[in-house]
Amino acid sequence: MSTDKDCIFCKIIRGEIPSTRVYEDDDVLAFRDIHPSAPVHILLIPKKHIGRLSAATAEDQAVLGKMMLVAPKVAQEQGSTDGFRTIINDGRIGRQDVFHLHMHVLGGPTPLGRMIALGE
Ligand code: AMP
Ligand code: ZN
Repeated sequence: MSTDKDCIFCKIIRGEIPSTRVYEDDDVLAFRDIHPSAPVHILLIPKKHIGRLSAATAEDQAVLGKMMLVAPKVAQEQGSTDGFRTIINDGRIGRQDVFHLHMHVLGGPTPLGRMIALGE
């Protein structure tokens, strides 16, 4: 499994940085976002270090598919039982801060705001 020694999410996977894990299997890990933007805010990541969605290749197809299937399961388990939102930020335009591919899984007891605001 390819890993990056300085990447903070790789460090979370290796247990070198603490996190609140909510789901884990051989391929993916889900943990609570440290600065939640909604009552349910989980980050779902591949265990393989993939820097960003646009860096994924055909080799990553299975883990990307698994993330799509794990997201609703995690959302429901975390109490978002009537829908949720996923976001993947990619690169500068997407305002990606952490360069290890991650899917934000957002939800809560009340509906989220509509989609996105344009950047300031
Ligand atoms: P993005 O802007 O899509 O790259 O999102 C990065 C996310 O990672 C932000 O929502 C941060 O709050 C979150 N984050 C950064 N460091 C940690 C950490 N150590 N544990 C949990 N979440 C983190
Ligand atoms: Zn990484």
